[in-house]
Formats: sequence, structure tokens, C-alpha cells
Amino acid sequence: MILRVLPSLPVALVPVLLLAQTSTPTPAAAPSYEARYAEVLALAPRADRVAQVTNLVLKRDVAQFTLANGTIYLLSSIGGRTMGAVFQGEATFSFAPPTRIEQDRLARFEKVRALDARVTELVLLFADSTLAELEGKVKFGQGQVPGEIRTVVKKSLEYLGDEDSKSFHPDLMTAFLNNQESNDLFYAHITRDGGGPLMFMLDPFESEEVILENRAPRRFWTHQPEVICRFPRQRAAPDSVTGERRGTPTIRTYRLDNTLTQTGSGDLTFAAAARLEIATPVASGPWVPFELFYKLQVDSARWDGGDPATVFRGKEAMLLWVKLDRRLQAGETRSLLLYYHGDLIDRYGDFFFIKSPSSWYPVSLDERSYATFDITYHTPSQYLIASVGERADSGVAGRVLTTRWVTPGPIRNASFNLGQFEDYKVKEEGVPPVTVMVSEQAHRELAKGLRERGYGLVQQRKMKETVGADVAQSLKFFQHVYGAAPVKQVYATEIPYYEGLAFPGMVDLSWVTFQQTDQQGEDEVFRSHEVAHQWWGIGVDFATYHDQWMSEGFADFSGLWYLQAARKDNEKYFGVLRRWRANIFLHKDEPSPIWLGYRISSSKDEVGYQILVYQKGAWVLHMLRILMLDLKTMNEDRFTATMQDFYRTYHGRRASTEDFERIVEQHTGLSMDWFFQQWVYGTAVPTYRVAYKTEPAGNGQYRVKLRVAQEGVPDDFRTYVPVALDLGNNRVARVRVNVTGPSSEIELPLLPAEPKAIKFNDLDGVLCDVKMVGW
Ligand SMILES: [Zn+2]
Repeated sequence: MILRVLPSLPVALVPVLLLAQTSTPTPAAAPSYEARYAEVLALAPRADRVAQVTNLVLKRDVAQFTLANGTIYLLSSIGGRTMGAVFQGEATFSFAPPTRIEQDRLARFEKVRALDARVTELVLLFADSTLAELEGKVKFGQGQVPGEIRTVVKKSLEYLGDEDSKSFHPDLMTAFLNNQESNDLFYAHITRDGGGPLMFMLDPFESEEVILENRAPRRFWTHQPEVICRFPRQRAAPDSVTGERRGTPTIRTYRLDNTLTQTGSGDLTFAAAARLEIATPVASGPWVPFELFYKLQVDSARWDGGDPATVFRGKEAMLLWVKLDRRLQAGETRSLLLYYHGDLIDRYGDFFFIKSPSSWYPVSLDERSYATFDITYHTPSQYLIASVGERADSGVAGRVLTTRWVTPGPIRNASFNLGQFEDYKVKEEGVPPVTVMVSEQAHRELAKGLRERGYGLVQQRKMKETVGADVAQSLKFFQHVYGAAPVKQVYATEIPYYEGLAFPGMVDLSWVTFQQTDQQGEDEVFRSHEVAHQWWGIGVDFATYHDQWMSEGFADFSGLWYLQAARKDNEKYFGVLRRWRANIFLHKDEPSPIWLGYRISSSKDEVGYQILVYQKGAWVLHMLRILMLDLKTMNEDRFTATMQDFYRTYHGRRASTEDFERIVEQHTGLSMDWFFQQWVYGTAVPTYRVAYKTEPAGNGQYRVKLRVAQEGVPDDFRTYVPVALDLGNNRVARVRVNVTGPSSEIELPLLPAEPKAIKFNDLDGVLCDVKMVGW
């Protein structure tokens, strides 16, 4: 489904490597996963391949390993090929991130902006030219292998896999299994003085190939790594890859036949027959990994023509390995029939919920790839079902309802929801029909459960009407301000959780927002946020995780805008905005730019993702809105036209922050780089100390002077702050003042009357803290 253009993988076949390969049997793809996995697990230093090294340097992008003095051992072969080595002695690892954001990031974790670590042991795994480089520089021969070196290797492998599920890092494992080419894959497990281990990787399957990780210190699985830095490798000409992966096989079309059967205890079992069309942007295989929810077991697999297919799935493993009958070339496809079943559906009262909304069917490791879906569900006839796609057929036979849903075009994720629902339809002129699926009975039970635990929760009257109205009216409002809805119908279904999820034509809303509506507008924002994803996140997809604020922040802002414009509640709009500002200010000591996306969440910062990507992301749009507002007429056509233009231009595609910046610049006619640098790529938020004085200027006019101290931001930080002057008799004068540098004195245009009050940062035009002080 991803129709992105991928550059071909740079394959560096250096002659010396070819030479090295002739001395061993021709490596071949693994006939079985388990046999090769066993070789990986048994990786150990070889006594006949030992060398003393002095001042040997390995460079991988911005990383440099200097093996000053010590011993290096090649590891046992995998599929007949040497793909690993271990070093012990004195060495250094230096790593200098190329950008300010990644240097800041390194400083968060390591307290330095460029790393120069003293290394005692190094385990290397590779499919690149490392072996040739080593053999070109040192002479391997017979030696001693101390027991502790074996332990070093064994321990490092624990960071990459899990023996119970026979899992291993999928990109390393792909190289080990296929073993017929050189790619740029390089991995180093670094043991150092004065700090936990570090993992450096050059992973050609990632869009940002250069990765530095550590072992996350807290509640994660013991060896779950945490990304410190990641960025694209230095290239002569930067490529324009979108998404997080490159060169990764995908599934382009799905035909899923799902059977959900009720058991005696009222639970639902799940079994599926899937026809998957596998495609690849570059030659791949024969072994290719996919993901499938770990509770699902594969029963059988065969190719389209009927031949049995080789697949491997470890016990409770997330990965599903498929061995293609031959290597797949770019542009070729192969159709696999896969049968699987398992514990997928949770029951909660009259709700059912998919335990894994993102991998209940086999998915590409490129989780952002697109596919078309043709899905049939056989479900107990007493339950209502909603799915992505357009409903093509349905019929009841016995007590089984069969429905078929087809997506009109490629989408990112498919989902469904079913339950003892009542359906409530909302028809609004000019808006796709909305079907709300709600379970009154489940509400009574959920609320009762909460009451028993001491939480009072009043059930709002007209649950479905209230939710349905927000869904339909926000659809209508977003059509008006952004452009035609990209779907023909919308299902709004209820889920027994505290979150919302959006899919094309379907939103899952927390049961709580049905149960009650808070008094402050957050519920309206929550419901319309999920609706807004039809435009932002689905209609216009974000280019990479860096741009996710253009999905979540845009959706949060859209919810606010709906609250203000359609629900005509100005006070709540600013109320919610100010609460979000308070969160942002409380978070000031954990600075991360919005642009870091999911990486904001780390052991250093557990709440920042929500506060920065969602709430500060919404603030960025709000600030643009006010910046583009005509303060004389309060007309905001320029902002609306910008959003419409952006939606029209990128609908059905992926857009980056730079793409958005370009559209904004077309509508302002000015460079907006400063704005995006400060608010999206930067972390600072200003505090202003503002004093003013007024004096007569003759002819009944008045002069107002402002003195503004700007704190907490770099010296070149600049803002355009709206100032409102109350002139009495319902007259308000508004001006925009440019604040730059630590202190400025600003004289406002002459006023026709003496101002009774001055409001600095009117309309909360800038995300800042304002303190009024005496002159
Ligand atoms: Zn969202």
C-alpha cells in the first residue's frame, strides 16, 4: 500500500570481500529458521581465528571504534559465513551526532554532546565489509579463548533476542537467514568504563539508519533498548524517504475471512483465513519477517498455486517469518494463504475488544505501509459490527451474520468493533452519515462497578445523541474549514477503555465520553479530535514520526476550533488552551522539541509525548491562526485558506513539517523559518515581564510605551504579540508588537483616547507567561 519511491539499497560488493567468500562454501539461505537460529544462539569465539590488534580503526558513519590494544576473535560462522567478532582490551568509541537536536538528545542521556567512551569489550555483528576490513589489517591465527570472552558474547546476544520465543532482532536475523548478499548492516554491543552498555547500529532497513541505544533502566522488559539518537547516515545527496523503514517487504492487498464464534461462556473465539499479496520495494528474501499478534497461532500456510509454504513462528512471538519459494524482486508479488487462530477478543460486559488493534492480521515491519482490504466477518447475529471499508454485502444464515467490507483505496490500518450495541444514526445535510454504536446495558454495569469502588459517575442523559451530535457536527465543521470528508460514512463505536482510536471511516471512543460530558470542553475536544483524524493522520498522512504533531497536534487543535466555532464557546476554547499551556510550563525542565515525536517518551520523560506532540502541537496551530488573523477585522480567511490548501495539496499523501511550512509561507508571503525553528524544532518558551506607561501626545491623542523583558529563550527568539487596548465605550484597539531580544522598548501607534486597560498577549496569541510589572 505504500506507494513511496525508494532508492535502491547501496550494495557495496568490494572485491576483497568476494575474495574472502571464495575460501568458504557459498553461503546460502537457511532451509529452516530453527537451524539458523541455533547457530546464532551458539555464536562463540573461535580458537583458530584470534588476532592481536593495535590501533585498528573501524568507521561507521559518525561512529568510530579505535581498538588501541587488545585481542580480537572472529565468531563461529552463520550459514558458512563469518558475521561476528568480539574484542577485548583497550578501545574507544566516539560518536558525534551531526545535528543540534541529536546533540541535545545525547546530552540528556550521556551529559555530553559528543561521546568519547573508553571501551573494554566490543561484540560486533555484521553483514557489511567488516570481515574484509579486519582481515586486511590483522592476521588471524590459533589462540586461546578465555571463558569470560564466551560469556561476553552470550550476554550481548541477550539484548537482541529472547530464547523462549526464538526471537532475534529482525533485521540482523534477516541478514543471517538470507545470507547471500552484502548489505550495510553493522551492529556493535559496547561495554564501557563508567556507564551501562551502549548499542550502536547501522541498519539499512531503517530510514534513519544510524542508531544509538542503551538499555532502558526502568519497567521495560529487562533488555528492551531505548533509542538515544537516530538519524539518517551522511550522504552526498540526501534522499527523500518517508516513513520509518526502507527496503522492507510489505503486504499490498489483504483478503481476510474472519470467523468469530461464541463459546458457552460467552467469549468469542477468533479464526482467520487470509490471502496476502506480498510485495517489496527492493529484492528481498527468501526469508521475510512480518508481525502478527503473539496470541495468534498459525495453523497452516500455502502459496497461491497450492504448494505448502514454509513459515516460522516462535512460541508467543510477535514475528512471523515467511520463506518465499524464491527471492522476490522489486515490483514482483507473491500471494500467501495463511490460516491462524487464537485469543484475540477480550470481553468486557457487553463490549468486545480486539486485544491488538494494530497486528490482528499479519503486517509489514513497515507499520506505516498502505494496503487495500477486502474483509469478511462471520459473527454471532445478535451483535452489531462496524469495520473499516465500505459495507459491500451482508446476510444472516442460522445465527451467523456475514458482512463484507471493502476499502475503496489503500489505508494504513484496518480494524473492527462489535458488541451488544444499539445503533443510532445521525443524518446531517451534506455530511457523511454517522452511525453511533452504543451499549446502554454495558454502561449500567461499568458505572455500577465504579460506584462499588467509590467513584461516583453520573450517566448523562441522551448519551448517543450527545456523542452523535459532536461527531456529525464536527464532520460538518471540518468539511467547511478543511475540505470534503475523505470517507463516505463514519462509525463511532464505543470501547471499554479510556482512549480513542481513529481508522478510515471509523472512530472508537472511550465509553467515558458516552457516560458523561465534562463541563470544560475536553469531551467535545476528545470526540472531535478522533473525527479530525479523518483529515489529519489519515487524509493527510505524516511523513515520518518527526511530523506526528501534524496528526495529533492538528487533531487536538481541530477539536478546540470545533469547540469554539461550531459550539460557539469562546471561553472553553481559551480555557482548554490555558490548561494545556500550564502543562507545557510544568514540563519546561524536560525540554524536547515537538519534532522528536515518539522519542520524547523515554525513561527520562514519561508524559512529554502527550504534552508536546498533542498539546504544544495544537498551540503551534493556534499561534499560526492568531498570527495570520487580521486584527482590524478579525477575519481569519488567510488561516483557513492555508489549512484548505495544505489538505488539498497533500490529501492521499504524506506531508512533512517542511511541506507544511512551505504552504504557510505561500499564504503569508514571508519566510516562516524562524517560527518553525522556535516552536517545532526548538524547546524554549518565553516569559515576559511587561511594563507600560501612557502619556498625552497632543490633539487628544495618547502615546503608549511598552517595556518588555523576554526571558527563558535564546537572544534571537522573536514573537509578534497581540496587544489589546481598551479605549472605553466598547472600543478596542489591537496591535501586534514584535518582541526580540532580552529587552525592548516599544512605542505603539498614537491612540485616539486614553486606554483604560492594556492586555499584552491578547487572544493568547503566543505561548508564553506574562507578568505585568511597574514601569
Ligand atoms: Zn489522536
